[in-house]
Amino acid sequence: MKITKELLLKYAELIVRTGANVQPGQIVNLYVAVEQHEFAAMVIEECYKAGAKKVNVEWSSDIQSRLNYQYADQEVLAKVLPWEEAKMKQMVEDLPVRIFVDSDDPDAMNGIDPQKLSAVMQSRATVVKPYRNAIDGKHQWVIAAYPSGKWAKKCFPDHEEEEAVSLLWDAILRTVRVREDNDPVADWKAHTDFIEKKAAWLNEQGFSSLRYHSANGTDFTVDLIPEARWEGAGAKNAQNDAFYIPNMPTEEIFTSPIAGKCEGTLVAVKPLSWNSQLIEDFSITFKDGRAVSCQAAKGQELLEKMLKMDEGASMLGEVALVPKESPVNACGFLFYNTLFDENACCHCAVGMGFKEVLPDGDNLTMEEAGKYGINDSIIHVDFMVGADDLAIDGIRPDGTTEPIFRDGTWA
Ligand code: ZN
Repeated sequence: MKITKELLLKYAELIVRTGANVQPGQIVNLYVAVEQHEFAAMVIEECYKAGAKKVNVEWSSDIQSRLNYQYADQEVLAKVLPWEEAKMKQMVEDLPVRIFVDSDDPDAMNGIDPQKLSAVMQSRATVVKPYRNAIDGKHQWVIAAYPSGKWAKKCFPDHEEEEAVSLLWDAILRTVRVREDNDPVADWKAHTDFIEKKAAWLNEQGFSSLRYHSANGTDFTVDLIPEARWEGAGAKNAQNDAFYIPNMPTEEIFTSPIAGKCEGTLVAVKPLSWNSQLIEDFSITFKDGRAVSCQAAKGQELLEKMLKMDEGASMLGEVALVPKESPVNACGFLFYNTLFDENACCHCAVGMGFKEVLPDGDNLTMEEAGKYGINDSIIHVDFMVGADDLAIDGIRPDGTTEPIFRDGTWA
């Protein structure tokens, strides 16, 4: 597909109107890489056409971030300066719509000391978190992607950069349902309606556990939190009732299971990229809710390390249902970007759970959410278990069962 200006405008419009659903009079914060300034201009204009009061842009650069980590001291980078905090205070006051255009090079931080990276992130996160919490559920936001040259080369190493970018564009537009001959807004309406219908059905069933089975060795049962809801596709801004779609693409319906209540083995069907390194052909076995062993043809040590990052890293934080017909899966390659890779097929995640799935979850502390069974951890790592023959059954508290998935898709 040739990436024309018309297609880009269609994509920008979809992000602003359907994804972020910018309402008249709202302030918008756009987060985008400097290289993507032309596309940023399209998004900004579309925001104003939708009635935005003001669009603020926060430009980023992989190169700048990398140089900072290479040359500046850890203590300097870790400190959140008063003007940065003032900006966050303003954000809590304005409750802007936030639009993130992700084009990051997956290898941008290769070679940077991972201890330094995590120490800086951790220390900044403690200052930033209260502001994040203060805007949670009270503003609209969306993450969408734009293929940078470095990212495209990572996905298609055997192609020249220009060709790789064009291949990644094809894939991205396919997954976000933007074509020359379609109405993406209408297609997204049908898509999100379908996901919401399935999520509503799951919520009605009141399953207390899920049983997974597949010929590759997956044989696994996990208990669900009775109060937790299945969610997918969209969310509502509690302040103005605006319906928005936080992730474009999105295919999953997910919930957080009870941390520490699962048994059996999950076999991964796709490689996992963690800290810029690959873990391949692996399985994880759980006992009493914790990963007790794992096997990987490649990246065994890395996988073991990941599962030991902290107390919660060996327990599940998410189970998600994605039919194998997902357009991300149809692309058939690894995007090295969770926004895409987790929407390929059914997956589970070790680490942090989502308190948002609980009633009034946005207002709970992690400690309060933990009492329901939501897992807490510094990591949240998705791994794909959606084999082509995967069967998932829902089990109700009275012991009756219902097929949810057969042969990797909705039963
Ligand atoms: Zn997920």
